[in-house]
Amino acid sequence: MYDVIIIGAGPAGCTAARELACSGYEVLLVEKFKLPRNKSCSGVLIKKSMDLVRQYFGEEVPEYTMCRPADNRGMIFTTDRGQEYRFEQEGLNIWRSSFDCWLATKAAEAGAELRDETAALSCDEQEDCILVNFKGASLYSEKARIAIVCDGVAGSVRRKLIHAPQNYITTYQTFNKGSIDLDHHYFYAYLQPRLSEYDAWFNVKDDYLIFGVSVRDASKLEHYYSEFIGYMEKHHNAKIEKREKAEKWLMPHIMPGCPINYGKGKVLFAGEAAGFLNPMGEGISAAMESGFFASKAIEKIDLSGDLDLETVYSAYQDNTCALRDYMKRQWNFVAGMAGTFDHMRSEA
Ligand SMILES: Cc1cc2nc3c(=O)[nH]c(=O)nc-3n(C[C@H](O)[C@H](O)[C@H](O)COP(=O)(O)OP(=O)(O)OC[C@H]3O[C@@H](n4cnc5c(N)ncnc54)[C@H](O)[C@@H]3O)c2cc1C
Repeated sequence: MYDVIIIGAGPAGCTAARELACSGYEVLLVEKFKLPRNKSCSGVLIKKSMDLVRQYFGEEVPEYTMCRPADNRGMIFTTDRGQEYRFEQEGLNIWRSSFDCWLATKAAEAGAELRDETAALSCDEQEDCILVNFKGASLYSEKARIAIVCDGVAGSVRRKLIHAPQNYITTYQTFNKGSIDLDHHYFYAYLQPRLSEYDAWFNVKDDYLIFGVSVRDASKLEHYYSEFIGYMEKHHNAKIEKREKAEKWLMPHIMPGCPINYGKGKVLFAGEAAGFLNPMGEGISAAMESGFFASKAIEKIDLSGDLDLETVYSAYQDNTCALRDYMKRQWNFVAGMAGTFDHMRSEA
């Protein structure tokens, strides 16, 4: 019997695992894929994420996780009204595969048992524990007093538990060799309905020029992508010599009020699985913070007797209250900038 089983070794799961292991709990951290695994991401660590890494992992982000240019100097948003908003800020440009793998290694070094290539299939609530069913080399189960599900945006474990419909945004980005007249140190977002149903973006990682669009209706991907490439050719002299790869992913479609699902019974949710996501490039920081606060909430109770879940949930909600308010303000701020996020404006 573990004290806590954590499902998903992204920033939320690794932060929760390290915190609990450091506090002496028996922790099992499972990851569906072999580490290092790919995660579609722009890989911008804003200053807040860098600070949280220092705070929760006790170290600076290692250089080997970074790509060229290693420093991200901020974000530049261009809106449908043609206005440019510059957010200058110290940040880092990392590959998620090596960054997340480093986080998982840190959790393991702190004492968490790390099992990759192991998919959690479901969680069964039992009277005194939670039974987690896995598929690794074989089908088997493990028990824990409590679990944290950090299985990301479309995680099947969370979906099986709450049976709630979820709206997704589809993201699509391509990695290209070529040239462009933009400063490689910035992340560029285009909040223009002509170019995407959500946002379109450009950034540079090593020798790749990355162009991305996000849409609610996946059948419109190609249309928006070609509009966006045409726009970048015209306005920024983009020249694509060779497309090396392309990837599709999902993001939660955040609704006004930023509803968060904190969990069900002895299973807490954290990170994107719970609904934590900020629009200003802050998925990683929101995931780490929520993973940390989920584990802090568990530390509030005695795991050896009857579980005081009321205390766990109220501590988790109280601790993440500021994060949630911040998310609402950020979404509202972005909605104020551009018509593409109008639906978020109602929560002013
Ligand atoms: C295109 C794109 C660009 C982005 N750019 C940025 C950015 O520049 N900066 C930023 O801060 N955020 C960015 N984000 C958001 C950020 O990537 C996410 O918000 C963040 O990764 C969420 O962390 P998480 O730990 O909740 O989930 P994830 O990072 O998704 O981790 C979930 C983990 O759970 C594993 N898993 C899933 N199911 C199971 C299972 N059944 N059993 C075991 N393991 C399982 C997955 O394999 C994965 O490793 C971007 C997102 C997208 C889509």
